[in-house]
Order: sequence, then C-alpha cells, then structure tokens
Amino acid sequence: MDWREALQRLMAGNRRFVEGKSIQPHRAFPLQHRWSDEARPLAVILGCSDAVVSPELIFDQGFGDLFVIRVAGNVVARSVLGSMQFAGAHLGTQLFIVLGHEGCGAVEAALEEHRGRAGQPGSIEVLMRLIRPALNDLDPQLEGPAALMAAVEANVRWSVRHIIAMPGVRKAIDEARIQILGAVCELESGLVRFLD
Ligand SMILES: [Zn+2]
Repeated sequence: MDWREALQRLMAGNRRFVEGKSIQPHRAFPLQHRWSDEARPLAVILGCSDAVVSPELIFDQGFGDLFVIRVAGNVVARSVLGSMQFAGAHLGTQLFIVLGHEGCGAVEAALEEHRGRAGQPGSIEVLMRLIRPALNDLDPQLEGPAALMAAVEANVRWSVRHIIAMPGVRKAIDEARIQILGAVCELESGLVRFLD
C-alpha cells in the first residue's frame, strides 16, 4: 500500500481510539485478510516498550496490520535497522514511524544522567548511550515536564535521523517511494502527534 494511504488509515484509527470509537479490526483467527492483497503491514512502527503505548491499540489496528519493533526509548540499534530493512525489502512496507511518548521513563533516565544527576547500571547504560546524543542540543533552561517533552521529541528526531542515514533511504524518500515520520503519543488523550 502507498504510504500516503497507510498514513491516512493510521491517523483515522488513532482518531477512533482517541474518541473512544475503536472498531478493533482483524482481531480473530484465522487471518483471512493476511493472504489478501491488503496483507502487507500498513507501517513499520518503532515504539517504546512502555506498557501503555501499544501501537495496535492506539492506531486501532489488528493482527497483520503493523510491523512493530519495540525497545525502551525507541532507540535505533543495529538489529532495529535490520528489522526495518527486512520490512521494507520483503514486505514492501513504505511507511516507517518512530513513535515516542509523553513521560517516557527511558528518556527521563537519560535526561537525568545527561544533567549529571544519576548513573544507570549495566545494560541500561547501553540504552542510555543510544539516547544521550539526542539530548545535546536541549535547552538547559527547561525543567520538569517541559524538559522531558523536549527530550522525548529530540530522541524521536534522533532515531529518525539514524534511519534516514541508512544507504538508499534518503533517495527513496526524495522519490516519494517511502516515508519516515516521527511522532509522539500524548498519554492523557492517546493522540498521536506527528512531528514536522
Ligand atoms: Zn518510553
């Protein structure tokens, strides 16, 4: 499916979710639609592992509709890029979305560390290392929720930039064959706000 149409479908699904009118499509097995022409996932979503931001729920989609990669802080590691490339090459998915969220704990931990307030143990530090460069240009005056929201957006943009840096991706975007977007889910409403 063309990425523009896929994006319209996701936005329509998120609108239904926000308005409490989810239709919960494709929730039953066997997955008849899986083998139809519509079988390709609408989009690849790189989201955070946080239990409150399940992409299928917030975009009101079902089985087979989304190719989801979830990792705390929606960071881009090599295996993430590999998964994305797989979806593009083998499933023909054209739309790629990095989905951050309000109040992200992983980004908050990186922000604390960035500002010299705390260190993280062991493997969490690996995550922090991937998020930290995203925070370099943050306004040091920002505090509290405003600082965290700015950090969440910066981290989404940082991940988008990594994906665009993959070989051939820039050209594919310029030719409108694929699209890569950053977005943030607002926790109170469930609204997904796409970034410029
Ligand atoms: Zn998170």
